[in-house]
Amino acid sequence: MSAIKAPAAPLLSELKGVGPALCAKLARLNLFNIPDLLFHLPLRYQDRSQIKTVAQLRVGEEALIEVQVVQAEVVRRRRAMLLCRVKDPTGELLLRFFHFSSGQLKQFYSGQRLRCFGEVKLSGGQLEMVHPEYRLQSSNGTGLESALTPLYPATEGVSQTQLRRLMQQALLWLEQQGAMELPDYLPAALLSSLALPSLQAALLFLHRPPVETDLVLLMSPELPARQRLVIEELLAHHLSLTALRMSAQQQKAPILKAEGHLFESFISSLAFTLTRAQQRVIAELRTDLALSRPMLRLLQGDVGSGKTVVAVAVALLAIELGYQVALMAPTELLAEQHAKNCRAWLQPLGLKVAFVSGRLGLKARREAEEQIVSGEVSLVVGTHALFQAAVQFSRLALTIVDEQHRFGVHQRLALRQKGVHNGRYPHQLIMTATPIPRTLAMTAYADLDCSIIDELPSGRTPVTTVAISEARRDEVMARVAQACLQGRQVYWVCTLIEESELLQCQAAEAIAEYLREALLGCRIGLIHGRMKAKEKSELMAQFKAAELDLLVATTVIEVGVDVPNASLMIIENAERLGLSQLHQLRGRVGRGAVASSCLLLYKAPLSQAARARLAVMRATNDGFEIAEEDLRLRGPGEVLGTRQTGLVEFMIADLQRDAALLPEIKRLAELMRADFPDAVQPLIQRWMRGTERYGSV
Ligand code: ADP
Ligand code: MG
Repeated sequence: MSAIKAPAAPLLSELKGVGPALCAKLARLNLFNIPDLLFHLPLRYQDRSQIKTVAQLRVGEEALIEVQVVQAEVVRRRRAMLLCRVKDPTGELLLRFFHFSSGQLKQFYSGQRLRCFGEVKLSGGQLEMVHPEYRLQSSNGTGLESALTPLYPATEGVSQTQLRRLMQQALLWLEQQGAMELPDYLPAALLSSLALPSLQAALLFLHRPPVETDLVLLMSPELPARQRLVIEELLAHHLSLTALRMSAQQQKAPILKAEGHLFESFISSLAFTLTRAQQRVIAELRTDLALSRPMLRLLQGDVGSGKTVVAVAVALLAIELGYQVALMAPTELLAEQHAKNCRAWLQPLGLKVAFVSGRLGLKARREAEEQIVSGEVSLVVGTHALFQAAVQFSRLALTIVDEQHRFGVHQRLALRQKGVHNGRYPHQLIMTATPIPRTLAMTAYADLDCSIIDELPSGRTPVTTVAISEARRDEVMARVAQACLQGRQVYWVCTLIEESELLQCQAAEAIAEYLREALLGCRIGLIHGRMKAKEKSELMAQFKAAELDLLVATTVIEVGVDVPNASLMIIENAERLGLSQLHQLRGRVGRGAVASSCLLLYKAPLSQAARARLAVMRATNDGFEIAEEDLRLRGPGEVLGTRQTGLVEFMIADLQRDAALLPEIKRLAELMRADFPDAVQPLIQRWMRGTERYGSV
């Protein structure tokens, strides 16, 4: 087979004006070479190609206007601002500046002509622009842009202007050498059958859209130029996962056909009986483990459906045959909780459990490592630290990864690689509490088989959910006070939209302070991401032991934490959270026999989308239903830029937004493999280059 060889891509340092300093900054955007830059698509566009009259302006749009100053003045409200009234022959508008200099005030003398670009707002019945970009115009102004202006994802120290200048050079390269250097791996016949543009045409269009392009169409996922790239990326991803799967099926694994006496003792030691769904899944896993090729299976089950018990039960099948099992969790807190539970379950069976985490002291660490390599330990529980070279297993036969969405495909491969022993690969079980609609699972996990626990243990009462405006915080406080009096435990979750952990922690501290004053006699704890792992687990232990009535928390409690007596949850800023996150959070309550409730606090007014999300949360507790609704609500037509799945990092595609394309992708992948096998490898390489860079497979 004569595979097509991908040309080496020219580095960004070959562009004019790019020195080592800029290179380093561009690397932060994952931009290393010219093709990287070309695949760095605009977030949105501005139309600076035509001047609008004031009469044409619509609230909410960004527009370029040419006006004359009527009058400018500095006014002092709560803070000083510069107000400048301007007009054109069709009407008047206000420019508002909060940051300004006295020089600016002087510039804005009556009659001065300005060209301004900004978003049109309505304030007190009057049109205005806040901090528009503006330029003083002398006699007969400067030229206009001939294409729509792209706005790129940027980073500190790299401006839009710089990015646009670099992109101009990259586009020139594309026009001159693209056909050779950036080949189109999608066969022409296939493109024309789908009515999609070539790679080169698509990139040129997206970076430099003709002025007459409709801005709404330009942002839509149905835009052919964008769809072509999305399809290519999804296809590459699908092909790479199926290739992984096919090669995994050629591998050998230890055959784990255990009699099951440890397994039986464990099951009979439990205070409950397994649900039918748990039993079914255990049977599926047992069948896989008894084969001579490695199991690669995803276990989906709603929060609280009892995945851990299932995992431990099958782990015992490997342990009985003298093998080791690794259980990996995404956070310290969860790993510790698992370690504690596993010790309680396994020690009575005479088995040893080790705990490995990055925060462990050196001595404890070495000790654990020695016990693992000697084979003394049967089950190793830990965080990412399990990847580290110092952790060597003696006979690893099964790796279990909990809450998979935080780990990437390549991390889970790395863990598999660790356990290769005498040419045999360990089996792998991936567990996730984020239900994924079938269509998405097919693509996100094309390399895995799927099992589902679709039943909750009996005796659980569904969580009652209500949405309450922040304005009614007093009523919420009364409910919390009453719950505490009744000995029920409460989570108060502080969430912020900002990505800053610091801000989130400060908000949580402020809330905790406020609650301590308002709810005297109620024992309140605070847990957030900036605390030491030890402090966090101590607090969780206190809460679990009911030494605290109320726990104020940031989203660190998101996954897996188990305190059955907690039966009331307040979620702040609920309107800003996605459905899957809300569902994950809510899953912390409703784990015991007491009826639980969840209060979603929101700030009015609600957007239509937020209203719909809250309605879904009130209507159902079923994770799969919520996932489907999420898909429907955010489905095709959703604006670009919201990526919440966190399943896979795509550059351009978005599994949820582009879900409708997935069945087509599957068909195209089969077609590519059958009819154009030479293009498969280069295509995978083009889109998986980010992961190769971190070199893990
Ligand atoms: P998940 O990881 O799926 O969210 P866990 O495994 O943490 O759920 O289980 C949640 C709680 O339910 C734990 O306290 C566990 O011991 C308990 N549990 C698991 N299976 C059952 C069952 N069949 N009946 C009753 N309780 C169960
Ligand atoms: Mg769990």
